[in-house]
Amino acid sequence: MLQTTIIRTVRTEGVGLHTGVRGEVRLVPAPADTGIVFRRFDLDHFEIEAHGKNVARVSYATSLMKQGVLLSTTEHLLAAIYSCGIDNIYIDINSIEVPILDGSAEPFMEMIEQAGIRKLRRKRRYLKVEKALEVVEGDRRIGIYPAEEFYVQCYVDFPHPLVGKQKVEMVVNPESFRGLLAQARTFCFERDIPPLKAMGLIRGGSLDNAIVLTEDGVMNGPLRYADEFGRHKALDLIGDLALVGLPLLARVEAYKAGDALHTQLVSRLLADPSLWTITTQETAHSEEPIPAHQFSPASALSTD
Ligand SMILES: [Zn+2]
Repeated sequence: MLQTTIIRTVRTEGVGLHTGVRGEVRLVPAPADTGIVFRRFDLDHFEIEAHGKNVARVSYATSLMKQGVLLSTTEHLLAAIYSCGIDNIYIDINSIEVPILDGSAEPFMEMIEQAGIRKLRRKRRYLKVEKALEVVEGDRRIGIYPAEEFYVQCYVDFPHPLVGKQKVEMVVNPESFRGLLAQARTFCFERDIPPLKAMGLIRGGSLDNAIVLTEDGVMNGPLRYADEFGRHKALDLIGDLALVGLPLLARVEAYKAGDALHTQLVSRLLADPSLWTITTQETAHSEEPIPAHQFSPASALSTD
């Protein structure tokens, strides 16, 4: 497989969910071996690589920080880029936060469609996981395991009549992402809004960019999928895994995890090179079923 980039520059603009700051995003073609790189064009094109080494510890969304320059809420845009198999791209942005748009990855998928994808004359490098790694925090877990392709399983459990237990599992590719996850929107609980507002953490939040769950229903329906919440969490997971910096050959299982746990897994994985190898060899499509894994509550669920 060869590395890819986009064919032409495309742009969009909107407000950031957390900061409320308006910004413009341009997706720009990049040469082989660039990777996915944000450039703050309001700061002299200061570059922040979409890589685990730049993950910032903040209490909301996924944020990158390099030399004091912050960039927030990268996960939806990165999920679209990573799922589409784009190896090299500049994301030029003039604000502190990626616009939330409709709260899903669909607007970014449309941008990528307009931009087009082309192959470069350089072999794609994969990060192939050789040994398992798990991160556990109370009843939340995430693990990464050897596999022949990029596979995710995401389990959520919120005590709400519209959510409850939801599980999504899929091999990640442009078709599966577009068909199953891209349109799933950000969500929050009505009861969390006053404290989030008081902390200034949802300055750009509105009923147009997040599903708001009331005690027993949804304030701004209809939902796009009955299990839109589980699907959105899987979308976030893929966007955070993009911070590995290379396409993954691995199976990732997240159990009630979130951005903090996702990025912790990425950081710990990258910090231990004995867990993986870098290869240009795309493994042949495995005919064998993926072995069932002991994530006990999730594996007891029906996913049909
Ligand atoms: Zn999200």
